Amino acid sequence: MSAQIVVITGCSKGIGQGIALNLAKDPQRRFKVYATMRNIATNQEDTKTKAGSYYNDTLFIRELDVTKQDTIDKTIKGIIEGEGTIDVLVNNAGIENPAWWQTAPMKTFYDVMEVNYFGCVRMTKAVAPIMKTQRRGKIIQISSVLGFKAIPISAEYIPSKFALEGFSESIAPPLRKFNVWVSVIEPGVVATPMSEEFGNDVNAIWHAIIDSWTDCPEEEATITRKMMTENPDIVLGTELQSIDDIAKVVQDVISSAKPDFRYQTSETVKTIARHRFIDPSGNEIMNSWLKQ
Ligand code: NAP
Repeated sequence: MSAQIVVITGCSKGIGQGIALNLAKDPQRRFKVYATMRNIATNQEDTKTKAGSYYNDTLFIRELDVTKQDTIDKTIKGIIEGEGTIDVLVNNAGIENPAWWQTAPMKTFYDVMEVNYFGCVRMTKAVAPIMKTQRRGKIIQISSVLGFKAIPISAEYIPSKFALEGFSESIAPPLRKFNVWVSVIEPGVVATPMSEEFGNDVNAIWHAIIDSWTDCPEEEATITRKMMTENPDIVLGTELQSIDDIAKVVQDVISSAKPDFRYQTSETVKTIARHRFIDPSGNEIMNSWLKQ
């Protein structure tokens, strides 16, 4: 069987790079990976080095900025001309823009939506018609536990993942009729170079975000800190997953003939999902923040 053609966004580092390397190094050579990134001139070396002999064998680097339609069109066209197909799209590229929502300029919110939501919409629109025509494909959205369950910080980021989940849930049923499967991956906190800066301590990450809200009055910062500290179950406690854990889930989705729509990547995230989805009024969740 020929290798599946996989296109991944945001592969210069982090989770996207990990997914790309994991698939490209598959011992059975089942995947040919197009690891895309927005700035090849400055950002490709790390991925290239880590790919080693797999570079230009099962891993290929292409330039693609999810906010720039011309780079999407050019790269997708090039892959189709070379391979004749795209079997899997992994929408991974994402940013955070931590700021206190009450004083953050609107641009803060727009910038996150532009990459995390509209970027995925652009990519999905570019690839879905190809997959429908070939009656085969998988579209994998790297969402987050914060795509279905909010916390009292990251108000600029969380809506971008909620939007991605809504978009995905809306487009998935008709696409399944064309044998095109949409899945959302919902990781908790994943260990990346950013988390390492905080000694991989999840609480330290939350506190650093609140500390960075220099214009937030101390009373409100204190309330928020207390909520984040006293709700370890819903703010993910101290659980940190590895990039390999997430890459493995993505590989499972690709290997499945009929993948699920949602994949929580750990038992903790599954528990949060159960809590979220059996609370129709939303009051149980509100009360869990306010109980102290
Ligand atoms: P990361 O280490 O910061 O990597 C983000 C990647 O996205 C980088 O390659 C970055 O490229 C790229 N990117 C940013 N803007 C882009 C654009 N306009 N076009 C193309 N690529 C762009 O982040 P990560 O932690 O690996 O996160 C990857 C995904 O997982 C994101 O969607 C994130 O929301 C999601 N996620 C992360 C966690 C976590 O704990 N880390 C948890 C749940 C979900 P540059 O190098 O050029 O900036």
